[in-house]
Amino acid sequence: MHALECLEALDVGLAVWDAQGQRLVWNPTNDRLQGLEAPADAWPGHSMALAPHLQGMAGNRWALVYEARSAAGCTAMARVDVTDLVRRTQDLEDRVHQLARDSATDALTGLANRRHFDAVLSVEWNRAARTQSPLSLLMVDIDHFKKFNDYYGHLKGDRCLQRVAATLLGCARRAGDFVARFGGEEFVLLLPGVGPEEACETAQQCIEHMREVSLPHAASPVGPFVTLSIGVASLAPDSSSTATSLINAADAAMYRAKSGGRARYEVAGLCDWEIDDETPRTQPGAL
Ligand code: GH3
Ligand code: MG
Ligand code: MG
Repeated sequence: MHALECLEALDVGLAVWDAQGQRLVWNPTNDRLQGLEAPADAWPGHSMALAPHLQGMAGNRWALVYEARSAAGCTAMARVDVTDLVRRTQDLEDRVHQLARDSATDALTGLANRRHFDAVLSVEWNRAARTQSPLSLLMVDIDHFKKFNDYYGHLKGDRCLQRVAATLLGCARRAGDFVARFGGEEFVLLLPGVGPEEACETAQQCIEHMREVSLPHAASPVGPFVTLSIGVASLAPDSSSTATSLINAADAAMYRAKSGGRARYEVAGLCDWEIDDETPRTQPGAL
């Protein structure tokens, strides 16, 4: 095979220019890739090769371009069509992003899931400790949700969870407010920079908004509609407290809201900050 035929057979676009920009050598693949233009930019005057770089082409295609120049000003360029590779990489990146979103999201409600909440709590806890600002947590539990499932069936129970999630999301109005599904029928609102008074207002709003939604719960001993019990815990983190103690305190307060009759919120008191994972929670009353 003649030397030039070899070049023509290559599936790589090739071209060489002299110092005046005259094209000396090129191959048909070069033309198929819509021609290589002689570089117009200034050259430092010594021989060098540029690092290969990606170049967008017409038709949403991509080429990897290699370029070298001699001290005398000659330029050689090679261009490889890497469109398929680029598309597959973009596809993979899209899937990685989707997976990251999925792994942080609760599939049923679309809220942040427990894993995401744990990560955000850790970040916000450290930020609050650093800036000595308050952090509040609302632990929200649907009242008599088992009875809801038993009465209406689990699919309607799922839709109830979605309505509660949307209602709570509507109560998270400040920029840093964060809502997540904590467990089965438990949700959390994390309120950075928010002290006890504002946290109680938000808890009251959650209860009232749920009342406005008026989702029927014919099996609830509390009333005709779905209600929420909420535990509120607020503190400015210091070395004697941990993020776990914030969850435990809000949890204990929530159980007191249950035993106090449900459809209400309770604020974590001093005794609630002393409980740990081993401490039995107050038994909810009959109502
Ligand atoms: P309380 O007022 O004391 O909180 O009573 P409760 O019935 O709400 O609490 P309990 O812990 O006895 O029941 C929680 C129920 O939540 C039981 C479980 O079947 C239901 N649940 C948890 N996750 C889901 C879910 O994803 N979908 C549905 N439909 N039900 C769920
Ligand atoms: Mg519960
Ligand atoms: Mg419940």
